Amino acid sequence: MGSRLQCPRCSSTFPLESFRSTCTCGSLLDVRHDPPPVPAQKLAEIFGARLRPPSAANDPFPGVWRFRELILPEAPDPALSLREGNTPLFRHPAISHFAGVEELWLKHEGMNPTGSFKDRGMTVAVGVARRLGYRALLCASTGNTAASLAAYGALGGLPVLVLAPQGKVALGKMIQTLAFGAFIVEITGDFDEALRLAMRLADDHRIALLNSVNPFRIEGQKTAAFEIAEGFGWDVPDWVVLPAGNLGNISAYGKAFEELQSWGFTKRMPRLAAIQAEGANPFYRSFQLGFAQRVEVKAETIATAIRIGSPASFERAVRAVRSSEGVVEQVTDVEILEAKGAIDACGLGCEPASAAALAGVRKLRSRGIIGPKQRVVAVLTGNLLKDPDAVLRRAQDLDNRTTLPASEVDLRKLVERVLQRER
Ligand SMILES: *Cc1c(COP(=O)(O)O)cnc(C)c1O
Ligand SMILES: [Zn+2]
Repeated sequence: MGSRLQCPRCSSTFPLESFRSTCTCGSLLDVRHDPPPVPAQKLAEIFGARLRPPSAANDPFPGVWRFRELILPEAPDPALSLREGNTPLFRHPAISHFAGVEELWLKHEGMNPTGSFKDRGMTVAVGVARRLGYRALLCASTGNTAASLAAYGALGGLPVLVLAPQGKVALGKMIQTLAFGAFIVEITGDFDEALRLAMRLADDHRIALLNSVNPFRIEGQKTAAFEIAEGFGWDVPDWVVLPAGNLGNISAYGKAFEELQSWGFTKRMPRLAAIQAEGANPFYRSFQLGFAQRVEVKAETIATAIRIGSPASFERAVRAVRSSEGVVEQVTDVEILEAKGAIDACGLGCEPASAAALAGVRKLRSRGIIGPKQRVVAVLTGNLLKDPDAVLRRAQDLDNRTTLPASEVDLRKLVERVLQRER
């Protein structure tokens, strides 16, 4: 049958070229592929053999495109890539200790080209939009989608329009979006309002909507889960834990792990844990109701990347949690900042929303849901430099920044203090 867009609610199908996000029945669409024609074991070897260092010249399968058979077999050629993906896994004793989980890995998606996992989805969705002849690209964004879309739009030579909630975009993300030349409109409403507006504007067929409602974004974002499975020797950890806002990413991980299992790459699925900020917790509340009901809230949290009250990928995310026997947890802003402190203090660093993943692991461990001997991957979704204000606010409480007259005597005293801080 080939790849197509399919509605999970009413089973209607549409050709990929329709580039639709929603079905006539109102549900979001998924990309559905036939099982790959090559056996899983053989394909896994091919994926591994295609992996080149980012310094290699003339990489025929750059970035996430080494997985092309599982994301878009009929891929645009050459790929529109910034050599995204293939991000590192870290383990650190202080982080394990913080969470109370010995075998805890951090997958650092902040090490993508624009500093967040959004790049994985954009290389696919922007590539397809360009091939289909769209003349401009559009998104609503809390910041990272905008930064990533602005970069891939610039790379592909297409203008970008961003709708963002006024005063709620972290500085680093704003700087990237401006530098890459996107048009940015700060609207007076919140992200949820911006997304509603963007979805309405997208009925203009010259402009493509690139939010995670777009099924091609989900296909690209699956590759982080592929890398995790590959990194564990085509097995999976017990848990994969990630921050959840608009719920596109948890949906992508759920779809990826389901496909890996059904196509014979892995024997089982990891349990997925979606972590929300307490002030932006509609998915958590719905989970508490056994998903009997969809919940909306007015969102407020310092973790601006997940400051979302009416998540668009709600139904997809319910499937991801159910099929993986997953859970949804919430953490406070204080818990988020504690976790960020631990991640920053070991030299990795991340933005506040990402730290929610570690705060979530710690909470799920303390509640006995994650066992002390289980293998856990927490996903750090965004780079520390995305949100400099979050660091400056905290630096006021720390004592690692002073001004001194440039006298050698004073500086020698300071050297003594620094030596006492040895870790
Ligand atoms: C986009 C984003 C999220 C949330 O992902 P969703 O797909 O909206 O659930 C979390 N953290 C960071 C840093 C992000 O950029
Ligand atoms: Zn439908």
